[in-house]
Amino acid sequence: MTETPMGFDTLAIHAGARPDPATGARQVPIYQTTAYVFRDADHAAKLFNLQEVGYIYSRLTNPTVAALGERVAALEGGAGAVCCSSGHAAQIMALFPLMAPGCNVVASTRLYGGTIQQFSNTIRKFGWSAKFVDFDDPAAIEAAVDDNTRALFCETIANPGGVITDLDAVASVAGRVGLPLIVDNTTATPYLCKPIQHGATLVVHSATKYLTGNGTVTGGIVVDSGKFDWSASGKFPSLAAPEPAYHGLNFHAALGAMAFTFHSIAVGLRDLGMTMNPQGAHYTLMGIETLGLRMQRHVENAQKVAEWLEPDPRIAGVTYAGLASSPWHARVAQITPKGAGALFTVAVKGGYEACVKLVDSLKLFSHVANLGDTRSLIIHPASTTHRQLDEAAQIRAGAAPDVVRLSIGIEDAADIIADLDQALAKAV
Ligand SMILES: *Cc1c(COP(=O)(O)O)cnc(C)c1O
Repeated sequence: MTETPMGFDTLAIHAGARPDPATGARQVPIYQTTAYVFRDADHAAKLFNLQEVGYIYSRLTNPTVAALGERVAALEGGAGAVCCSSGHAAQIMALFPLMAPGCNVVASTRLYGGTIQQFSNTIRKFGWSAKFVDFDDPAAIEAAVDDNTRALFCETIANPGGVITDLDAVASVAGRVGLPLIVDNTTATPYLCKPIQHGATLVVHSATKYLTGNGTVTGGIVVDSGKFDWSASGKFPSLAAPEPAYHGLNFHAALGAMAFTFHSIAVGLRDLGMTMNPQGAHYTLMGIETLGLRMQRHVENAQKVAEWLEPDPRIAGVTYAGLASSPWHARVAQITPKGAGALFTVAVKGGYEACVKLVDSLKLFSHVANLGDTRSLIIHPASTTHRQLDEAAQIRAGAAPDVVRLSIGIEDAADIIADLDQALAKAV
């Protein structure tokens, strides 16, 4: 092994993987097992006391899943990671050690529709709440923070609008108020942006999207930077005071930079059970091997398609930050220097009806509630993912009735454009 840190594509293939100690298998085996035999009673006791790291039961840890966690932690530049059953599970798992009844999270108005839903309604059942503010306005973020706020939450490239968040500005607010910043990096992936380098504490992913990359898995991951001082404020007793849910262990005192990761496994996965399965982890490991190559092509195609759409007379607007006309264009160089992602929205002349007709007329594009697939995908948020929001909230989320969201795949750009051209001819 060399002394210099390895590059992204090398880590994407090698991080977390080593020849299987039992068989020498080069690829990470799918350890399809529920439990692991203890060497003896003393070994078992040490594992349960977290005095020795090892495998107990696959709701907590599994070697295939652990390889994936290690790989994504390496790609994001984090100290540790915990894999979960979905991106939405990852969001709950990220908040779980930080929150308590009565606590809130200050979140961006521009989020995946499902996250707005989860944060507006479902987390209230835990006694948590969210305050939504414009994350382009640092003063508004700071004003929304109160004594019960436990985290700030935003997306690197906001879904569905192609808006890039100024993570440096948001992280400096988080630093001033002494709170962790959680960044959903699903749509950027660590290839385009490493939020920890911009000051994020935790990075969450829906592995369902680009990390796996081909629409085969539902999964999620939380990466911890290992840099936040959980003991400084007294606001995070689950991590920095005796934890009653784990025989009084003070995770931060005992485990330092790995406090969040160990708590998430030993308490979070143990009691919430939002565990990733080894098959899913295997597919995601396979996907990540080509993440750099795929993202390069995704971004290249997205730029071509956005540039073709923007001047088209049937189009009212394209919100791709890779276009010079985007208000967020300057942030590409700052936050996502290798490209503005491959997800953007297009306003179609003719409104809601034209959007529905466009979606129904496309042949190469699939009409699905997914993104980040090798295949090009389209959805009309106002009639699907964002339909449970009122119109004002749809517009705030970048999902107005005349808007479709495109997830540009890695097919030939000319074929993607030809399909849009023929469908627009029918729709408008
Ligand atoms: C899809 C998605 C999620 C939710 O992930 P699931 O794996 O579907 O639970 C969260 N955030 C963003 C940005 C997403 O695109």
